[in-house]
Amino acid sequence: MSDDWITFVLCKTGYVPRKEDQEAALRAFHSFAPDADEISIIHHDNIEFFDCGSNFEAVKYPNCGTEIDATWWSDTMSEDYVSNDNSPLKVPVLQSLSRWIIGKPANLTGDFEGGFQLLKYTLPCCQHHASLDSLDYQWPQAFGRIGLSGMNCNIGGITGDQIAAIEASLKCCTTVIYQHI
Ligand SMILES: [Zn+2]
Repeated sequence: MSDDWITFVLCKTGYVPRKEDQEAALRAFHSFAPDADEISIIHHDNIEFFDCGSNFEAVKYPNCGTEIDATWWSDTMSEDYVSNDNSPLKVPVLQSLSRWIIGKPANLTGDFEGGFQLLKYTLPCCQHHASLDSLDYQWPQAFGRIGLSGMNCNIGGITGDQIAAIEASLKCCTTVIYQHI
């Protein structure tokens, strides 16, 4: 038995829409996925990763088109993540990074102590600097604090009109993530 989620994650990383805008987006999602098992808004205190499950195929750097080494990507995901609970697994010591830290992306909203920091790292392919959220994920994956998520929507893909309705409610463009587990 497998499950599918369709999740809208905001382009403005870390942005949290007003409560009434979130509710409007929930109503819009319900209107075009009336048979979904569940539609809800996922809230995180910090920036977290919304993954696509087994739909994951590759990570590329869009500027040069090179596929990023999977080990480099997962190591960098761990390094970029600051755990709030002092878990020994994922506490990066930033000073020890062998990669340059250039700074946070301009579109990052708010200030977070934990979660993904989205610092810039030197890519192994062409030595350009990029943060993890600026990479090209196939299928799409995204970083954020809020996800509007529907479980087993049973509607196939989301149409452009439906995306536009959700984005109008949330007042922000979104990345649509199809997660298969
Ligand atoms: Zn490159």
